[in-house]
Amino acid sequence: MREQFPFFKANPDLVYLDSAATSQKPQVVLDALQNYYVNDNANVHRGLYRLAYNTTEAYEGVRAQVAKYLHAKRPEEITFTRSTTDGLNLVASSFGPTVVQPGDEILVSGAEHHSNFIPWQQLAHRTGATFVVAPVKPDGDTDVDQLAKLITNKTKILAVAQVTNVSGGLVDVRPLADKVHANGGYIVVDGAQAVPHMPVDVQAIDADFYSFSGHKVYGPTGIGALYGRYQFFEAMPPIQYGGEMIDEVQDQVSTWAEVPLKFEAGTPNIAGVFGLGAALDFMSQLDLKQMMQAENTLVKSLRAELSTIDGIILYGSDASLSTVSFNLTGVHPHDLATFLDEQDVAVRAGHHCAQPLMARLGIPATARASFGIYNTQADVDKLVAAVRAAGGYFH
Ligand code: PLP
Repeated sequence: MREQFPFFKANPDLVYLDSAATSQKPQVVLDALQNYYVNDNANVHRGLYRLAYNTTEAYEGVRAQVAKYLHAKRPEEITFTRSTTDGLNLVASSFGPTVVQPGDEILVSGAEHHSNFIPWQQLAHRTGATFVVAPVKPDGDTDVDQLAKLITNKTKILAVAQVTNVSGGLVDVRPLADKVHANGGYIVVDGAQAVPHMPVDVQAIDADFYSFSGHKVYGPTGIGALYGRYQFFEAMPPIQYGGEMIDEVQDQVSTWAEVPLKFEAGTPNIAGVFGLGAALDFMSQLDLKQMMQAENTLVKSLRAELSTIDGIILYGSDASLSTVSFNLTGVHPHDLATFLDEQDVAVRAGHHCAQPLMARLGIPATARASFGIYNTQADVDKLVAAVRAAGGYFH
């Protein structure tokens, strides 16, 4: 597996444990980017010459591929975005004001990434709704029972991550979707950390919207996709205006292109779309359940080994999918990560764009190791040895 990722040839000594921030890219994704620029470079949805037509067909082919990958009903339920963040902001800015009234509630968990927190907080401010933040479990996982309890007939939108980025906890989305729908609301799912690590089926979880990023699932940066139910996409107004999102433009009025092109103003990230297609092809060749299990085996092993070190505090649980957050008592996580870096071990340290979660846990930050498909037990062993050495150095 590692041989498919040129990054590891360029950095043979580095133990890369920051795939939750961004994943490395397999050669097939790099080839897809290059192939577009070298062989197929034309704009989409414009030119009538054959190259432009073929490139447009291939671009729309990736849309169909994303739809199939997420098990959407039709390609028109997929809008290309820049990222998870971009997709969530599109829903909050376009769909949000059409359904949220003063006095309604918008519900999130306190474990959300800022991308799935601030857009809803700001929507609540704009619409006069109440922003309700559910408590989290003491280990930093989403507290699904608390979330479910807080769903009432005032809840217009529930926004929740299927997998959280600090603890790596997996949320069983379907019961939440059922309850919010039974109460007349909508569920928006942040799939940034789920799509890279598990099979996703938007119909099975009954999501109204589902957003993810290409760069976390072995694809390029600057490309993501948003799933939305067709009838919602149809009813939503565009939030960006410009080329290719129109039907007709007159001096005083304009009408919009069909779904989903009305959300894709201007020249899109065409190379990124092809890179995303290659990344999902790469994922499609894997046994995703087996991959999930293998990554969780690394999580369990890392947690077991770390817990033998004096002063270790672990967040999340053994069920975490691919991420382990931890602290070493008496050592600031930034100092720990800098020490680990000197041992060629790359982990992230910080608040992980989850300040509300850090506040609930009463800590400023954690160190976080996160796995991708290329990590092995040897990486776990090197990290643990380096953390053990840090314990000796700082204490
Ligand atoms: N949501 C979660 C759970 C994340 O982990 C991240 C990124 O770390 C995001 C949203 C935002 O992703 P992006 O920066 O690609 O938009």
